Amino acid sequence: MSKDWKTRTQLVHTGSRRSQYGEMAEAIFLTQGFVYETAEAAEARFIKTGEDEFIYARYGNPTTRMFEERIAAIEGTEDAFATASGMAAVNAALTAMLRAGDHVVSSRALFGSCLYILEEVLRRYGVEVTFVDGTDLDRWRAAVRPGTKAVFFESISNPTLEIIDITAVSQIAHAAGALVIVDNVFATPVFSKAVSQGADVVVYSSTKHIDGQGRALGGVICGTREFIRKVAEPYLKHTGAAMSPFTAWIMLNGMATLDLRCNAMADSALTIARALQGDARLGRVIHPSLPDHPQHALAAEQMTRGGTMLAFDIAGGKEAAFRFLNALDIIKISNNLGDAKSIATHPATTTHQRLPDDQKELLGITSGLVRLSVGLEDAGDLIGDLMQALDHI
Ligand SMILES: *Cc1c(COP(=O)(O)O)cnc(C)c1O
Repeated sequence: MSKDWKTRTQLVHTGSRRSQYGEMAEAIFLTQGFVYETAEAAEARFIKTGEDEFIYARYGNPTTRMFEERIAAIEGTEDAFATASGMAAVNAALTAMLRAGDHVVSSRALFGSCLYILEEVLRRYGVEVTFVDGTDLDRWRAAVRPGTKAVFFESISNPTLEIIDITAVSQIAHAAGALVIVDNVFATPVFSKAVSQGADVVVYSSTKHIDGQGRALGGVICGTREFIRKVAEPYLKHTGAAMSPFTAWIMLNGMATLDLRCNAMADSALTIARALQGDARLGRVIHPSLPDHPQHALAAEQMTRGGTMLAFDIAGGKEAAFRFLNALDIIKISNNLGDAKSIATHPATTTHQRLPDDQKELLGITSGLVRLSVGLEDAGDLIGDLMQALDHI
């Protein structure tokens, strides 16, 4: 039945389990373990754990299971495994399937911690990683080879909002026998259906739009039942990155409004991008739905909306950008995104501080670049705040 439901119905109902009390809201099963009626029942469950049977919260929990089923349903994957953070999801998706001697190709424009896993962790354990300009399909073609086990990329890069062609990169990867793992955080599960475009595994930081209210860290890996249960679960249940039931309950509550929030935030993001475009105090204004975005057509093809993020260059570099940030009133200086509260970030000195200058230049992270995560406030109020702050640069 729930297979035919549209996204907004699934976001409210899919995965719900009710106890014998018939509670309306999803219950938080704050329990680490589960009681077996008999020793034989315990033995049987360790041999084969059935649907709605649980052993230990590190392996799974009824509240966490509700969240996993709900996100898998809207993502269009057979299964999902929830993790303690987005980074735990990225790390497990890669580490669980790779071994020494394997080769991975990754786009270069990555969230700092993703870069750390690929550049430091995987290499330390003997996995070879080739970084490419993810927007250049010839680079992907040249980099894959027999022995390439996975390709990894963020479908919209942080912070310069480059779009990677999921369909084309998936074709290149699959022809080489590699699995396609996509970090889809910026695109959101509402605007992007990465699996229908060829991705095999999709990971989210649910800390972002899924919670959407800046309360809890979380993550999730979505994929085939085979990948989730045979590859990811054995790794995760023994290494301990499980999502807590309380966090899963927060995420379930976030999901009920996910579609509404993402659409309202995307409306405002585009309105703000248009209001900023052409302002003499700014250089580039980057939003995938603006016609001058280098991959405007690809963005329109690959996503139903341009997303909730934008970026712009303040003329005058770091000093001017700091004066601008310090003058903001409604918009907060922080580094989360996808939150109900609008958030401005200066990537060069915070999220991407660690990158050497030549890498920053390569990725377009200039000293005047500001990233804006558009929240749920009134768009006119946000534009007013941005304009008065620009007067201070
Ligand atoms: C935030 C983020 C992560 C990491 O998620 P956490 O929940 O903070 O661990 C990974 N990838 C992208 C693109 C992100 O924005």
